[in-house]
Amino acid sequence: QLGISIIAVLGLIAISGLWLTKKALEPVMQSFKQLQQFTADASHELRGPLTAIKASVDVMRNHPERFEQKDAKKIAAISSATEQMTHLTQDLLFLARSEAKGKPTASEWHCLALDTLLDDLYDWFESAAEAKDIEFNCYFSGTTKIRGDQAQLSRLFSNLIENALNYTPQAGKITISLVQQNQSAKVSISDTGIGIPSDSLPFVFDRFWRADQARSHRQGGTGLGLAIAQAIARSHGGQITVSSKLGQGSCFQVILPLYRPETAKSMTQWSSWK
Ligand code: ADP
Repeated sequence: QLGISIIAVLGLIAISGLWLTKKALEPVMQSFKQLQQFTADASHELRGPLTAIKASVDVMRNHPERFEQKDAKKIAAISSATEQMTHLTQDLLFLARSEAKGKPTASEWHCLALDTLLDDLYDWFESAAEAKDIEFNCYFSGTTKIRGDQAQLSRLFSNLIENALNYTPQAGKITISLVQQNQSAKVSISDTGIGIPSDSLPFVFDRFWRADQARSHRQGGTGLGLAIAQAIARSHGGQITVSSKLGQGSCFQVILPLYRPETAKSMTQWSSWK
């Protein structure tokens, strides 16, 4: 009898504890949601003025004869700053939307060949690698079908390839490889670049995080590319990891579930973004 009463009391305490914790967290969750909404709204609202500035600057750049040399330099600086702000707001908007509870957009999810997608990206970046005298290779083990949003997956892998190109000095090597493993597709993008210090590895997927040595290699980065890559991998039921050695290179691995017709229906219920 006594045992049962003690268990009942403990149960009650646990339930009230849970209820109180939930209640206490409500305002925190509410402000978190408001912050997300603010980021999404602010990024969205900034797009209009930025487009207007860009259009005006483009007109000025197309008529250099109207300006003195020193003014042309200033116009070029405004143009590149506008470009950078446009990227930043686009990236912030993308991340804010990805965090908000998106509506299921089943129509955007297709069965797609990951090898073809990577092959297209390889063609796309080949000349950039050539320009830096970087050995650029791509290895596949046959057709690998996954289910997802083609544009988002292209963005995920473009971000990783672009980083590899940005942080690998002249005459380095970048390798893209795709293998199938335990019902998953595993894509590795490795480089022989500047690498990331081991104590920084836990932060690489954080927003706005940039290693100190990255700043000298790339002025225009926003520090949002990897956060976006991670958000896309997760929304596809996958994950992204990194291993790296300072001064030797980095390897980013993305694991995505393979397409299986019987699971396709449940996958379409995952959220996506417009
Ligand atoms: P960005 O490249 O715009 O700075 P990212 O989110 O894409 O932002 O990357 C965050 C940081 O991670 C970079 O600033 C850089 O310090 C580091 N990083 C990412 N990819 C690599 C890489 N392949 N090699 C070395 N450092 C990298």
